[in-house]
Amino acid sequence: MIPTPRWPPDTPARTRRRAVERGLADRLDAALARPAAQQPDWPDPARARAVVHRLSTGEPLVTPAETRRLLDRLAAVARGEALLLQSGDCAETFADSTGPHLRGNLALLRRMALVLTHGAGLPVVTVARAAGQYAKPRSAPEDGHGLPAYRGDIVNSAEATRTARTPDPERMARAHAHAREAMTVVRRLAHGELADAHALHEENRRFVATVPGGRRYAARCAEIGRGLRFMTGVGPPAPRLGEIFTSHEALLLDHERTLLWMDAGGTEPRLSSGLAHFLWIGERTRQPDGAHLAFAELLSNPVGVKIGPGTTPEQAVEYVRRLDPHGVPGRLTLISRMGHDRVRAVLPPIVEKVTASGRQVIWQCDPMHGNSRTTRAGYKTRHYDHVLDEITGFLEVHRALGTHPGGLHLEATGDDVTECVGGARRLAETDLPTRYRTACDPRLNAEQAMELAFSVAELFAAGTPTSPETPR
Ligand code: PEP
Ligand code: MN
Repeated sequence: MIPTPRWPPDTPARTRRRAVERGLADRLDAALARPAAQQPDWPDPARARAVVHRLSTGEPLVTPAETRRLLDRLAAVARGEALLLQSGDCAETFADSTGPHLRGNLALLRRMALVLTHGAGLPVVTVARAAGQYAKPRSAPEDGHGLPAYRGDIVNSAEATRTARTPDPERMARAHAHAREAMTVVRRLAHGELADAHALHEENRRFVATVPGGRRYAARCAEIGRGLRFMTGVGPPAPRLGEIFTSHEALLLDHERTLLWMDAGGTEPRLSSGLAHFLWIGERTRQPDGAHLAFAELLSNPVGVKIGPGTTPEQAVEYVRRLDPHGVPGRLTLISRMGHDRVRAVLPPIVEKVTASGRQVIWQCDPMHGNSRTTRAGYKTRHYDHVLDEITGFLEVHRALGTHPGGLHLEATGDDVTECVGGARRLAETDLPTRYRTACDPRLNAEQAMELAFSVAELFAAGTPTSPETPR
């Protein structure tokens, strides 16, 4: 049985409410009855159902009001008046659900945003891949040693034994608890320690002073410092940064169906996920007749769809039609992850066809997932140069078409890991084993991510058609 979605306390008339509630619950049933890729086979489905029911009675982690605020901010991104920066771990783990790890990732997100704001001359909406990013899609159901694949800490353990790899629904409860705690940390840091633009700038200054070749970034860094001092001089309050929103891939549907709230506030009644502000559908679960897309249609949260190089312009338009039927700017983000060698060829016809449909979507570049490869020693990695090149291609495409390159979607951590090769320290394949910590895909470390932010800031500054300083 599907847990009945609940209304927030301040909703209108009861009869209408019940009809709408029944209608939405039926549609949710129908959506989840469709074929769903990438779901675990729970060994005891009744136990899994019991966990889902138990979790569905909990309090939401995020509120519909916050989610609506994000939608407003994203509308500005869709109109070309802001940027969206999303970043965090590929896979959050229970072991790394610690204050210091989260602080590192969130501080990095904020530090990158500061630099991009300056380069593009636009506000940056910050969304963390955090407080719920525990489920992973896999390219094969087995791991190559005959064991079930690791599907993220919310499903099974990465440890290579049959028992550890057996899906355990109680892990969904642990994920809820970790996400709840992480959410508290996100809120505390966003409005506390990480709201201080001066302190973030100090960290950036240290980066520029210590990273090899940091002189390249010195001019912009000094400009940012001058700008902050100017703003402080003009008068209090000193610049304080606002919210950090949360996001994860809506992959594990037994998890996603918990904590749904009726949301009658929009053009049509929908369900507001209480698990995160922003949810996206992955490249492996975007089948038009599948459960994930049907589920996303029912949400009132802003949603994204990852589109890989096999996406046709017609499919992209179909996503827009289904996920943004009322033409709400900011409702849908199309996250292209084409690969640096494909983006310039594959993206233009998609952007052209969607633009011709008259809808305003957010175009976001994920320069990570189309650029993965496995080294001979068996490490999954990405080259810094390929990541930067995909972003460069993405910007070129949007500049040529006159559309707004709305944002970036990165896998990056504040921890000093060695997972991606290249960058200022010229990390080589032989360096990867030193601190290769990811539970899934390779992340940029803090230096590589800051280097990327400064380089992309230059690309934006060099004639971004969306900068108010630059005539179109
Ligand atoms: C991810 O974002 O971690 C991911 C699996 O992406 P994609 O769906 O684009 O492969
Ligand atoms: Mn990933």
